[in-house]
Amino acid sequence: MAESGQIFDYVIENGTLIDPKSNLRTIAHIGIYRGKVTAITRAELDGKNRIDATGKIVCPGFIDPHCHVDGYLYNGHCYARMGVTTAITGNCGFGPHPVGEFLDKIDREGFPINHGTLAGHSFDMRAKVGLEDPYAKANSMQVAQMVEIAAQSIEDGALGISLGLQYAPATTMEEIMALAKLAAKYDLVMPVHSRSDAWDSVKALHEVIKIQELTGVRVLVSHLTYQNGMGMMRESLSLIEKAYEQGYQIAVDSGAYHAFASYIGSEVFCAGWIEKYDCNYHDVMVSSGPHLGKRLSQDLYEELLLTDPKTLCTAFVGKPYEVIEALCRPYVMVSTDGAVGSHQPGTGHPQDAGTYPRVFGRFVREMNALSMMDAVKKCTLMPARYFGLENKGWLGPGADADIVIFDPKTVIDTADYLGMGVPDAPPIGIEYVFVNGSPVVKSGKLDETAMPGRAVRQEVNIWEM
Ligand SMILES: [Zn+2]
Repeated sequence: MAESGQIFDYVIENGTLIDPKSNLRTIAHIGIYRGKVTAITRAELDGKNRIDATGKIVCPGFIDPHCHVDGYLYNGHCYARMGVTTAITGNCGFGPHPVGEFLDKIDREGFPINHGTLAGHSFDMRAKVGLEDPYAKANSMQVAQMVEIAAQSIEDGALGISLGLQYAPATTMEEIMALAKLAAKYDLVMPVHSRSDAWDSVKALHEVIKIQELTGVRVLVSHLTYQNGMGMMRESLSLIEKAYEQGYQIAVDSGAYHAFASYIGSEVFCAGWIEKYDCNYHDVMVSSGPHLGKRLSQDLYEELLLTDPKTLCTAFVGKPYEVIEALCRPYVMVSTDGAVGSHQPGTGHPQDAGTYPRVFGRFVREMNALSMMDAVKKCTLMPARYFGLENKGWLGPGADADIVIFDPKTVIDTADYLGMGVPDAPPIGIEYVFVNGSPVVKSGKLDETAMPGRAVRQEVNIWEM
């Protein structure tokens, strides 16, 4: 309800509002005051700033449940340009440590968008207890130490604990159980980059479901297409659906592309990868460093493995049709898996700059594979609910004023893989992006000085039925 005589900070007029919580699509005005949506009405509103959104979609800002932005300003800008207002980093078992310092810095210095993080298990946390080698097994004392680190991270505001089982193959069930039980106690979440992709990905999916079954933790199957979208999608989806029918709490995120990006020195490209992906060296492209844009050869692979294992590579080994097959399922939310190892302009993967405009331009408008309402839900309400972000992911009085205004007739990604285009080219049709009531994108232009984003922290409460 609008108080009469109230002057709003911003008034968005005549837009086509989409609220995924009430399933409402209607023409109305929105009043924003002190970072919150405080009025939605068809009555005229008075504002210091007015934006005419006639013919445009006005919906909650996109929430990326799975990225690697890690506080890098450049990536924050790319994400704002594609309509993301909240990015959750610390996935796949990596991410910023210590979590408290990372979140405090966001609050102190600001950031273009809201930024939360998980406590990543498979790199820094393992290294801190003496397990730098991904093939080293943890003893009971080391497991207890990891639980201590994770508990501190949760205390400091981590949204959950992420696992990158493929990156740390020696991770034992004892280790997983200890961390999963900790997250479950507070009803926090556990996103899992599963133990294997390609042919073994279905078996790896069983393990993720097992973690839920044995501890009650709300698991998230990370970037489903990048793990299981190599011909195993049907089987994987039917396994997930069987688990749903039995009441398991399993969330799934998946992206808009079929070629994944990872470090050349990671376990993804360990011995046997060519056979595993049924591919060749030239199916993999270097996406960072001096060999940027080159296809791998055996010589280049061996050289980079020795000299620069942190080189980012993009592997064209997935099945394009399995991207849509996954995203169309009602329980799959949209994610980017973006910004991994690509924190400089001109590097990386088009997912870092194009994911959301691609969903709305290609999958909704051009292919009609998703409805507008479903697509909005997958990009906003579903990730907000999974992470327990109560004031985000919907539009209504009291919601955080994280809002995107886009043109449904023109919205499209323009980013493309190196050699085919520019990986961080800005999208078309994203006209305004509000973060906590302040515009970061205005009339389609990024304001590089705007830093209205805040740290997203979890409240820690013991779970009770
Ligand atoms: Zn991952």
